[in-house]
Amino acid sequence: MRRVTLSFDNGPDPDVTPRVLERLREREVLAHFYVLGKHVATPAGRSLVERARDEGHVVGNHSYTHVTPLGSDLRPDAVEQEIVRTEALLSPLVPGPKRFRPFGGGGLLGRHLLSGAARDYLVAHGYSCVLWNAVPRDWEDPGWVATALAQTGALEHALVVLHDVPEACLDGLAAFLDALRARGDEFTTDLPPACVPIDGGQIRADLSEIVNA
Ligand SMILES: [Zn+2]
Repeated sequence: MRRVTLSFDNGPDPDVTPRVLERLREREVLAHFYVLGKHVATPAGRSLVERARDEGHVVGNHSYTHVTPLGSDLRPDAVEQEIVRTEALLSPLVPGPKRFRPFGGGGLLGRHLLSGAARDYLVAHGYSCVLWNAVPRDWEDPGWVATALAQTGALEHALVVLHDVPEACLDGLAAFLDALRARGDEFTTDLPPACVPIDGGQIRADLSEIVNA
């Protein structure tokens, strides 16, 4: 059976995330949320992280500002500013395995994703680094549902990147979820191993393709 793991990045957003959670709950689907520290720092963002956690979703770290991919971020304290600062907000809310999803600008995989310092930090602190294998570009393409169905249909286990922010996946989400279920796909929060090049601090893949070191 084909398996699909959904992930929602760049939130939480006070308008969109509650409605994403509602659509998931109505269909008994669990997902991953990769959140920005700048949003978790607000009371609304914090309570949305708690709600997602309480409803059974996985919540991970997606940087604090989401401005410059870490492999291109020349600040000497970029790891501190982006990963550590977000973790300080998240870890009291979601204890347990630490997950970091780098951001690439348009969903591209490449050496801009991580710096050597970021890689070393993730390994030393037992993180999993969570990538993706399906990016239907919900933030710019109103036809993203068809793209997402085609992308997931071509994979045994898809890890789909969507966005719980305004003008992204919300309008099409119910149709996407219903189409996946009608097709017989299984929803899971397990991750395809090929999308987890660092797993609990263990390096599982050749990182030279994603680390600018
Ligand atoms: Zn992102």
